[in-house]
Amino acid sequence: MMRRCLLGFFLLCSTLSAHSADAPLLAYGARIAGDDGRTRVVIEFDRKPVFFVHYVANPARVIVDLPETSFGLKPEDLQARGLFTEIRYGAMGAGSSRIVLTAKKPVAITVADVKADEGGKGFRLVLDAERVTEERFSALLEEQKWTGTVTSTKTDRLVEPAAAGSFVVAVDAGHGGIDTGAIGSDTKMEEKNVTLAFAGELVETLNKESGIKAFLTRDKDEFLSLPERVQIARQHGANLFISIHADTLKQRDIRGATVYTISDKASDHLAANLAERENLSDEIAGVAFKSEPAEVAGILIDLTRRETQAFSVNLARSVVSSFEGQINLINNPHRYAGFRVLQAPDVPSILLELGFLSNKEDEKLLVDPAWRRKVAGLLAVAVRNYRGGAVANGG
Ligand SMILES: [Zn+2]
Repeated sequence: MMRRCLLGFFLLCSTLSAHSADAPLLAYGARIAGDDGRTRVVIEFDRKPVFFVHYVANPARVIVDLPETSFGLKPEDLQARGLFTEIRYGAMGAGSSRIVLTAKKPVAITVADVKADEGGKGFRLVLDAERVTEERFSALLEEQKWTGTVTSTKTDRLVEPAAAGSFVVAVDAGHGGIDTGAIGSDTKMEEKNVTLAFAGELVETLNKESGIKAFLTRDKDEFLSLPERVQIARQHGANLFISIHADTLKQRDIRGATVYTISDKASDHLAANLAERENLSDEIAGVAFKSEPAEVAGILIDLTRRETQAFSVNLARSVVSSFEGQINLINNPHRYAGFRVLQAPDVPSILLELGFLSNKEDEKLLVDPAWRRKVAGLLAVAVRNYRGGAVANGG
């Protein structure tokens, strides 16, 4: 597939990224210094980096887009300080990587320069940030609008149509790339890797069932925005969407699996908090929130949504009854909240929290391949039962 730019207005990208097509850029060192007025960030690369800086509001963030980059940095190298409260970096997919610097207050990048190292070792990217007024920051955002719009690339992937008559299941490994998700308290395992390992297992298990065709929304460590996940499922003509997670809670003693469906009103505090955190995924990666295009107007979409929601609830119940007595479940294992990844109007969707990385016992299970196989098997049973019910009801 043609390498494309994440940002339409990154004109240099298509020509220059060709040079780095063989191996990703290597960021091998970084440092940050400064205070609440000015902060300098220096990142060392093995080759001359092509980069692009832009801003996102609420909260104010500086986004540095790079070609595919492996980050050989120690966590302490880019520890947020000065003007910045959080710094993340990682893969964005489609041959691009990104650094997201979240600021306390509005900032502007006054210097963005690449300099060759005196020793000829490589190149360093120097970014100077300065505190600015809200007005200046708004003006910077406004200027960006004139230079182009952000376009998505991942949803243009070539879609192989599923075999006619097969029941298509989209399995979505939560988080990825720059968005690591939760971190295991003991193993330091990242949620994005736990979800990917499990999702792979689940797809394999589902594909052994006759008449079922399962696929992954992401099959590697890359970032997908929440709307992209939904869109990929719809493009494949998914009959079901299952998003896999393993988050952390402040209450470390809480453990067990939870199945979530979408709802305007959350079932409880825990569900509301979790949905709020899950919905931050796009913000973490510096994706500006876009309202969804209205594909079907008004009443039609409402009817479809209601029907889809009923099917989602059926699926959730089927999963809970398949898990009961077999694996640990949280109290009231079917909960609901406003998860943005569950909003396909026409694809019944659930979000499955396999367990919590904040709980020692759960953490052990989550990294255990035998346990993952067992849970994948139980989910396949749930999908089979759901499907039987849906067919019986003409769905
Ligand atoms: Zn998660």
